[in-house]
Amino acid sequence: MIIRKQTRQIKIGHVPIGGNAPIAVQSMTNTDTRNIETTVAQVLKLETAGCEIIRVAVLDQEAASAIQSIRDQITIPLIADIHFDHRLAIASMENGAQGIRINPGNIGGETKLAKVIDAAKTHHVPIRVGVNSGSVEKDILAEFGHPTPEALVASAMRNVRLLEKHNFTDLKISIKSSDTLTTIDAYRLLSKECDYPLHLGVTEAGGLIAGTVKSSVALGMLLYEGIGDTFRISLTRDPVEEIRVCFELLRSLRIRERGPELISCPTCGRCQINLFGLAEKVEAYIQTIDTPLKIAVMGCVVNGPGEAKEADLGLAGGNGVGILFKKGKLYKKVAEEELYDVFIHELNLMTASRQKHI
Ligand code: SF4
Repeated sequence: MIIRKQTRQIKIGHVPIGGNAPIAVQSMTNTDTRNIETTVAQVLKLETAGCEIIRVAVLDQEAASAIQSIRDQITIPLIADIHFDHRLAIASMENGAQGIRINPGNIGGETKLAKVIDAAKTHHVPIRVGVNSGSVEKDILAEFGHPTPEALVASAMRNVRLLEKHNFTDLKISIKSSDTLTTIDAYRLLSKECDYPLHLGVTEAGGLIAGTVKSSVALGMLLYEGIGDTFRISLTRDPVEEIRVCFELLRSLRIRERGPELISCPTCGRCQINLFGLAEKVEAYIQTIDTPLKIAVMGCVVNGPGEAKEADLGLAGGNGVGILFKKGKLYKKVAEEELYDVFIHELNLMTASRQKHI
């Protein structure tokens, strides 16, 4: 059983972070924020996929001004990501950003930071102190030699103290490294050091496979230890894929469930239907479904019926046919050509009846 570290709770828009709130799933747009139309289109796709908080990069005043119009067209809270220029942080909040991510150490000194804090207090906007390996201050690096876990924590806590000095505690912290083990150790240390909510992530994790593995190892271990209140899995891919990976990770740790769980076999010489094609189409289809269900798509009758029987809806391939199981009971035999359509039809009936009972 996971015993969650009790952190303070903050709110990004309507989404609570920390305390007993569900672990929130985030992503970041990769569009030009100044292009309102494409940014909104991407956020809406992410919302459909289950994204709960979105972050956008704010590189100039035009991007900060665009926030207002973007917010009018989306429903999830928006965080503005700012480096170096404190005026952009202030402008973002004036234009409706519900959270800002800054590195207080690179925002231009304490006077400018104080102005950002004043704006955050006025607009009731939490700040994420976002430290990563590349942003550790020179004197801390000199002390630790490298961006070690201890160095990351020292940098984060120095920045947190700066905010606290200005009586600002409406914050969360991230300390990201591209190294899996450094990430794990850094968050473990940080979690002992304070009770602010933590935003987890492995920075520059890589493409779909490498990024998924690195992030799942690091974040999976941390979440299993009860550390972390919100997270993003960074992938060099369409951010919609990040959301899919986030929810699979939460499901695998039995923390949160969203949509059907698909069990499918790798196939072997016994498989006599095109299972790859079928499983791929089913996997794509279920991304549109919120209802938690267990479905199985199996290649043959050796292990197939066993798994399929455990599922709410399952199929096991035969010679040019598929055998459908519903709630553990053999339901019917279907020709391979009709298998996808029949399976999806049954799935839709099942999700509709589930929704009625929720
Ligand atoms: Fe092979 Fe059948 Fe197992 Fe799939 S379910 S891996 S086809 S034995």
